[in-house]
Amino acid sequence: MSEQMIKPMLVANWKMHGSVNRVDDFSALKPNSAQVDVILAPPAALLNHASRVLDDSWQLAGQDCHWAQEGAYTGETSPALLREMGCSHVIIGHSERRVLMGETDEYVHDKITAALEAGLTPIICIGETLAQYQAQETFITLASQLFHGLPKISAQHEIVIAYEPVWAIGSGLTPTMQEIQDAHDHIRTFLCTHWNAKKGEACKILYGGSVKPENTADILALPDVNGALVGGASLEVASFDKIIAAIAAL
Ligand code: PEP
Repeated sequence: MSEQMIKPMLVANWKMHGSVNRVDDFSALKPNSAQVDVILAPPAALLNHASRVLDDSWQLAGQDCHWAQEGAYTGETSPALLREMGCSHVIIGHSERRVLMGETDEYVHDKITAALEAGLTPIICIGETLAQYQAQETFITLASQLFHGLPKISAQHEIVIAYEPVWAIGSGLTPTMQEIQDAHDHIRTFLCTHWNAKKGEACKILYGGSVKPENTADILALPDVNGALVGGASLEVASFDKIIAAIAAL
């Protein structure tokens, strides 16, 4: 269990939703960045607009990146270009990419390396499927994804982990508070061994999966939860504002 005070992080993953107008609506929100790091991950095509209209209280993230900085990869997004568009972070290994696009731990490994080389902080998503949860394979799944996904150079850089049970994403279902804490504790213990205790203790471990205004305070109060990655409830200004407020009130 982490004893450290870590500034919480809140990531809005818009997936393939959003529009120029929606970014404009969100520009009215001014999160207190001294209390919480708020990061918007809009579709890549909206990043340029977002970097112009959101003020300094926001940070930006890509939702994915390629493992090369440039090349003949039609339709892909370069980590170097994400950096140029004003991103500080990039989500890597989201379960929708793992499940729908066949993204393996090896791809995740190479994308993390490329993101770090471009100066981005990767937000690495890991989590078990419903079948793995029911077979009580959550811990072994998380350890395997970290072991195979984390490149050696991760030890020298800031890394953010997002624990997202696949069965909780967009479903309205969440694990119990004890299950979330146990999974985060397991991830932290792994990181402390894999890197070292100081780095493992300082690593931000976010929870994602049906976070909404009503459950934010309970989830964020867990000792090893350092923030949230939010999909559906990040799409409306009102609900996202309530989540920011719940975190700021902790
Ligand atoms: C996600 O997209 O990573 C996510 C957690 O979505 P939701 O909040 O809708 O479950």
